[in-house]
Amino acid sequence: MSLKPALHSLLQWYRQHARVLPWRDQPHPYRVWVSEIMLQQTQVAAVVPYFEAFINRFPDLDSLAAAPVEEVLRSWAGLGYYSRARNLHQTARILSLQEEFPRTRREWESLPGVGPYTAGAILSIAFEQPEAILDANVERVLSRLRCTGGADFKSRLWSYSRIIVRTGFRLGISPRHTNQALMELGALVCQKKPLCRLCPLQSKCRALRRGVISDFPPRRPRKAWVEVEETVICLTDSRGAILVRETPAGSWRAGLWDLPGIGELDLSGQKIGEIQSQAVVTHHRIRRTTLLYRDQGSRLNSSTAARFVHPEQLQTAGPGIGAALKRSLPAIRNSLDAAAQDASMTL
Ligand code: SF4
Repeated sequence: MSLKPALHSLLQWYRQHARVLPWRDQPHPYRVWVSEIMLQQTQVAAVVPYFEAFINRFPDLDSLAAAPVEEVLRSWAGLGYYSRARNLHQTARILSLQEEFPRTRREWESLPGVGPYTAGAILSIAFEQPEAILDANVERVLSRLRCTGGADFKSRLWSYSRIIVRTGFRLGISPRHTNQALMELGALVCQKKPLCRLCPLQSKCRALRRGVISDFPPRRPRKAWVEVEETVICLTDSRGAILVRETPAGSWRAGLWDLPGIGELDLSGQKIGEIQSQAVVTHHRIRRTTLLYRDQGSRLNSSTAARFVHPEQLQTAGPGIGAALKRSLPAIRNSLDAAAQDASMTL
């Protein structure tokens, strides 16, 4: 396939159809880096509101580096894969000691949370360097264009991606546009069920010509769900605040605040309710039972940070909480309100 006409068709399509996304209008390295970390394993539509709120709160590298990690986790709460937020914060602290953002793949890939795709995306989008990318969208497009399969298909697609962006660069096409156009084509047209009649590359596509689109890219093993069943205690004090504690290091929810588990308390109190809830976070399916107790001198038997916080505050400006607690908070508030009413009627 001659790349020159294919690239021109692709770029023409991109100019007409590219989505307006908040990180595209100002491709500063900081914004591109934050957006690419958020986009790892997460759909664009889910990322947009988080990105805007995050940039409002942390408009530049220095503000992110200076913030406590707890605050960064709070801005991340609900987006999942929290190690990304911790890596982002750690990287911000490393980069804030340097005079400028790195400009080589080797330097970027040495930073926490930055792999080959993210490094290529930052270098091509923010610095217009002819660096290759390969995310799930680009993988679909390239593997179908060339019918690339087999055990080493990823390394072959990386080579192909490199050839495309370098050829475009020699033709005077910005690597930013080449790579974003490929990603956009995968996201909008070459989807799992592709819309080939809208594709600017259909005359070049081997999989379409051979009628074997569904064979590419080669299937991956299904995502393994982790089923989590847990029971937590919602202890409420006389002011209607509830006890939350910071999840210790080593847990996949480390750094987020949550209700204590049943084994974390020397419980002393009166049971006032029980709530069942479900939440899905990344590859975890969580079924949670929340036991509500009016506190009568319970003690947390671990040294982790803990405090009583009003449920409304947790939903707005409190410490960063995970999806399971967020999901159950409205029911907790209703149960606490009902228990308070019952208590006032019996007085
Ligand atoms: Fe994908 Fe269809 Fe375009 Fe081929 S023709 S790249 S399968 S959208």
